[in-house]
Amino acid sequence: MALRVGVIGGGQLARMMIAPAVELGLDIRVLAESEGMSAQLAATAVGDYRDLDTVRAFVNDVDVVTFDHEHVPQDVLKALVAEGIAVHPGPDALQYAQDKLVMRARLAELGVPQPDWSAVRDTAELQTFLDDHGGKAVVKTPRGGYDGKGVRVVRAAEDAADWFDALTADAATGAGDALLVEELVSFTRELAQQVARRPSGQVVAYPVVETVQRDGVCAEVVAPAPGASERLAVVAEAIGRQIADGLGVTGMLAVELFETDDERILVNELAMRPHNSGHWSQDGAVTGQFEQHLRAVADLPLGDTSPRARWAAMVNILGGPAEGAFEDRFDAAMSEHPSAKIHTYGKAARPGRKVGHVNVVGDDLDDVVYTARAAAAHFA
Ligand code: ADP
Repeated sequence: MALRVGVIGGGQLARMMIAPAVELGLDIRVLAESEGMSAQLAATAVGDYRDLDTVRAFVNDVDVVTFDHEHVPQDVLKALVAEGIAVHPGPDALQYAQDKLVMRARLAELGVPQPDWSAVRDTAELQTFLDDHGGKAVVKTPRGGYDGKGVRVVRAAEDAADWFDALTADAATGAGDALLVEELVSFTRELAQQVARRPSGQVVAYPVVETVQRDGVCAEVVAPAPGASERLAVVAEAIGRQIADGLGVTGMLAVELFETDDERILVNELAMRPHNSGHWSQDGAVTGQFEQHLRAVADLPLGDTSPRARWAAMVNILGGPAEGAFEDRFDAAMSEHPSAKIHTYGKAARPGRKVGHVNVVGDDLDDVVYTARAAAAHFA
């Protein structure tokens, strides 16, 4: 009988698991947060992933559970594991993608290079960190941040006063009692390292990629990172493997990295699922990250991560068409750029929203980047 994979969360990542699941003969089911989400094609349930009874009913007839996002609460995950359900990644690994303070502490134990950081409970503690770091720093809410929300550059402790006030309110509910503060890293660019790990321990790594963020949102990715030295590639892969093994990750792991002025590589954050920085692999690698994630969580042998061409570029379609439907733009985009692979998320247009992306692969870096941007621009 086909292995039944349950995905919690109905966003575009779950959507992009559907086609590879069908190809692999897996029976994929999705618990979506609401009707009409990106992954509705495979949504067999709609409900609140924070509610144990809802999740329990959903996983009742699946063999393995995985995720479209990292927001399922630990108590729900632990209850599933206690009931003998295979959860990948499991709660012990996922906690490090759910809470940036927990992640920083664990990566420090593992000796993984990362920015200077501290847990701060009030403005006085933040001021001490600022004084030690040239008067500037980055403050982050440990939980629930995404796309740059929950990240703020501060030059005075008062700049984070509202977040400390919110903490005091949260502390009453046991939601956490500290913010994360990090040195403001002077980076030359941002990178990402993808690895996959299956429960039996096999790990495979993709080439390190360059990511470009605009307003805290991933805009473009080039694979492999242009101009990456052999040393950079080796160090990034070693960090990815060390984290996957050290945290016991199962499935895809994305490690977001900073490359600094002085050629150090520092870990920014982790995602334990397919990630925007790995979308290029759908068309640019022998095994795309969505298929790889499914193989890993199903504990199947992992696929070849080799690039299919010298370069791959991924450009996000942000916002979507101001007028008319997304599909209205297909004719022009596809006829002008037949090499562009257009991926759509089935979402309504909204300023800044990730509604799709374009992948282009080829031998000429300028050409693939230009073509991906030009094709994506048809959907503005
Ligand atoms: P999110 O969880 O919202 O993705 P991140 O922690 O990845 O938040 O931060 C978002 C962006 O903010 C990063 O991509 C980077 O551009 C910038 N940033 C984060 N931390 C630092 C830091 N310590 N120094 C400099 N820039 C940072």
